[in-house]
Amino acid sequence: MEKCELVIIGGGPAGLSAGIYAARAAIKTVLLERGIPGGLVVSSQHIENYPGFESGISGPELMAQMEKQARRFDLEIRFADVWVIQPAGSEIILETDHGRISAGAIIVATGVQPNLLGVKGEFELTGRGVSYCATCDGAFFRGKRVAVVGGGDAAVEEAMFLTKFAERVFVIHRRGELRATKIIQQRAFANPKIEFVWHSVVDEILGGDMVESLTVRDVRDHKTTSLDVDGVFIYVGYRPNSSLVEDLVELDEKGYIITDENMRTNRPGIFAAGDIRQKLLRQVVTAVADGAIAAVAAEKYLEEMKLS
Ligand code: NAP
Repeated sequence: MEKCELVIIGGGPAGLSAGIYAARAAIKTVLLERGIPGGLVVSSQHIENYPGFESGISGPELMAQMEKQARRFDLEIRFADVWVIQPAGSEIILETDHGRISAGAIIVATGVQPNLLGVKGEFELTGRGVSYCATCDGAFFRGKRVAVVGGGDAAVEEAMFLTKFAERVFVIHRRGELRATKIIQQRAFANPKIEFVWHSVVDEILGGDMVESLTVRDVRDHKTTSLDVDGVFIYVGYRPNSSLVEDLVELDEKGYIITDENMRTNRPGIFAAGDIRQKLLRQVVTAVADGAIAAVAAEKYLEEMKLS
């Protein structure tokens, strides 16, 4: 079985940042990523609150830079899906689709995934007009009508991005005010292509081959109307990818991993970083900070284990 000092699971901002710090500390580290490195940030068209980029930067560009930086320090990034994590004495064994790895410590940076709306037609029409990524699919809707569901930063920012392509963007929100940051709200209200559909939820997504319309219900009087759209982008929050460690470490009621300020979980040798943690603010800037701290804490833990 392959032996490593540190295994990082997840190649988003937290995992890559941990990888940069671990590689520079000359810890024998492998970062395992089951898809494309970069995490969910690659689906964000424009990030304007990550310090150091005066005019903002696109998610794919920022993450490509982070990955290149990590590789420059010889971080080994491997494409592998972790199936099981099993503590065995002072080691942690990871079963992956590419074999078993034994690690002295691990950093779980597996992030979050988009929530589903859970309505009729959503599953059937995913990829055929139903999308969770405007950056990926927005360009297919040039000159068309689309809806965005949700009222947070993601929904409103991506609605604005979609106005580059679509002729009309309906933002369907279940309340009468947005959750999104004020500056983002102001820009959206000033955008003539965006129309807000307040106090409303989507009951059903209809279409044959492609999305054709939505059944929208006003939550105040329960009246339903039909809204003709060619696409619907769903941004109703995220859920943690913590099932791998749910029986190993303490989670909060929503499934986020509970850590101390040094990213230690309640199980020695298992650290967590990024959006997967229970925390106040899930942003790139907090994810990279978590990753750096987790790597340094893991380094200290590995040193202590060698001495004991
Ligand atoms: P969020 O802030 O949790 O907002 C989710 C939105 O979806 C809320 O408006 C919520 O309505 C609505 N919603 C939830 N469940 C729903 C349902 N079943 N049906 C209809 N609507 C539903 O999530 P987010 O916007 O995806 O953002 C997640 C995190 O990423 C946040 O911390 C956010 O600040 C961050 N983010 C930041 C930026 C940025 O800073 N530029 C960009 C994107 C994301 P209620 O408001 O009624 O609860």
